[in-house]
Amino acid sequence: MTSFTDLGLMAPICQAVAAEGYETATPIQEQAIPVVLSGQDVLGLAQTGTGKTAAFSLPILHRLAESKKRPGPKKVRCLVLTPTRELAVQVGASFATYGVHLRFKRTVITGGVGFTPQMNALAGGLDIVVATPGRLLDLATRGYAQLDQVECFVLDEADRMFDMGFINDIKKIIAMLPKERLNLLFSATMPPAVAQLAEQTLRNHKRIEVSPTSSTVERIEQKVMFVQKDKKKDLLVSVLNEQNINRVIIFTRTKHGANRLAEQLGKSGITAEAIHGNKSQGARQRALSEFQTGKVRALVATDIAARGIDVEGVSHVVNYELPNEPESYVHRIGRTARAGAEGVALSFCELEEVPYLRAIEKVIQQTVPGDDTHNFHDASIAEQRNSPHIKAPKLQRGGNKGGQGQGQSRNHGGGQQRQGQGHGQGRTTGAGAAAQHGRGRGGQGGRARTTRAA
Ligand code: AMP
Repeated sequence: MTSFTDLGLMAPICQAVAAEGYETATPIQEQAIPVVLSGQDVLGLAQTGTGKTAAFSLPILHRLAESKKRPGPKKVRCLVLTPTRELAVQVGASFATYGVHLRFKRTVITGGVGFTPQMNALAGGLDIVVATPGRLLDLATRGYAQLDQVECFVLDEADRMFDMGFINDIKKIIAMLPKERLNLLFSATMPPAVAQLAEQTLRNHKRIEVSPTSSTVERIEQKVMFVQKDKKKDLLVSVLNEQNINRVIIFTRTKHGANRLAEQLGKSGITAEAIHGNKSQGARQRALSEFQTGKVRALVATDIAARGIDVEGVSHVVNYELPNEPESYVHRIGRTARAGAEGVALSFCELEEVPYLRAIEKVIQQTVPGDDTHNFHDASIAEQRNSPHIKAPKLQRGGNKGGQGQGQSRNHGGGQQRQGQGHGQGRTTGAGAAAQHGRGRGGQGGRARTTRAA
């Protein structure tokens, strides 16, 4: 097991990491940190939960600190692009935490909030910018940000960038970067479009793939409950009332469904907030912090809004509706079992969702055990899971296909929307590397990384 000092990181960074309770590096950190420190590009195949954020932010902080340059007005030294606002805020907070003993100027730039503070922050130049593509492109095109001196460029969750229709913005941003720079590209999956982007962006890169053994999935107790569509709400209320569930994330397929369910739960006496792409950034952060502090028990989320949410102490995930992309199932249930903890994932399956269940089981290579002990159990639906007539739907390949997934609003100033549909790729499991290493954050139960970087 490798310590952070062994990896060659400077003392102020190791101190910050130790204060977070990290004792040893996760596999992605062990492999990526020395490569980034040596100045080589990295293609990282890793999911959230593997410690990938620290895998790039720690060596970047080290490199920025070593070179001792100062950013000129409007210039940016390190640029990290993320697909969602929440992830940008979290990655920004990670840089703040790990760089607490270093004096870097940094900011998070996303849509959904005012331009002026972002323009002001950029005016003096910044060491680190974590941004969603749309807003950054707006600012750069209008001349408020100059990206021609970027030393390190990180593209996080590249596969999601495609799903969300950001690729053109990303290409425009890349065209603004200097030729000489360090590039790091992280993705949970490697559909052909991402592989092509990696080919175009990276130079002489090292490919690092963390093995999905001891996956998040394996540490989660999964159950499927067969229930008629119009009984799902009652089942949910009874599950939340009967089981000892303090902090639960409930997934719906649509934004509208998330709003409605949060409202219905409220009427049934269960405190809940919805979080999805149509909510303002302020509303999303407020919902998250109420969830994190325990003011609300349930967060009702759509897939993309929930991606990257890193709240500790989530004991249960409920798939109120099964995702039509099997890979989303892995991401969803990975919201519990963060940083080595265990969790429970309950999936409510109505008749029409049985094919989705098939697809999920194919991807996770497990049968999800059925739970027929509840009052709303529908045996006829349960029987269908074994029916030879029901087949898993064909997986879609490549990003940006239309379909039943919910579109998420882009973070672009104009509030333009694009529909995105996922790909189905072979990588199946969310690696839960943290568990293997017996690490964890000391005494911070229930903490969400929602702090906005200054
Ligand atoms: P990420 O994959 O970057 O989303 O990180 C997942 C979680 O693991 C976060 O809560 C991190 O704080 C935590 N984490 C990252 N690296 C380590 C480590 N070396 N030891 C313990 N926890 C870690």
